[in-house]
Amino acid sequence: MKYCKKCKHTYDDAQQACTECRKPQPLYPIDDHNTPVFLIAAGGFEAQRIHSALESAGIPSECATRKNNISADVVTGTDPNDKDILVPFSAYQEAYDVCVGIGAIKPEGEEIKVDMSDVEQTAEGDEEEAMSPAKRTTVKIISAILLILIACGLIWGTDAITGFIKGLFM
Ligand SMILES: [Zn+2]
Repeated sequence: MKYCKKCKHTYDDAQQACTECRKPQPLYPIDDHNTPVFLIAAGGFEAQRIHSALESAGIPSECATRKNNISADVVTGTDPNDKDILVPFSAYQEAYDVCVGIGAIKPEGEEIKVDMSDVEQTAEGDEEEAMSPAKRTTVKIISAILLILIACGLIWGTDAITGFIKGLFM
């Protein structure tokens, strides 16, 4: 594991430079397990919530104001997630799990999958609503009536033709 000394983001050993910082920063191996590393960006109430959740799990955390970040919103002060929450590297995995537990972090890879199924479910739900049970019953009744009318038409029509043909020969 490597990390960026400026923004404290952690990276795999294969990564060469920090992609979070405005200027690519060199990465350093994490030798000291007490090194504070970036856990999540948050602000206001969310930052408080994460901080107390970590505290109750016995994980020390510190808040750092975001700096040198590529997000322009941070510079203009419109980014609500203006704080970096840092935890000791040794507690990172535990802290990550705590954040997943309280819904502050969505596990990697699952995010898109969950969103897609939500979208599909919503689309199905709309169709279901458009074709409500009452409407479906109405459609069934109308089809039944039409079927009876066609059947009647055929029978009466045949009778009329039979009568007409009979009339010709009498
Ligand atoms: Zn960085």
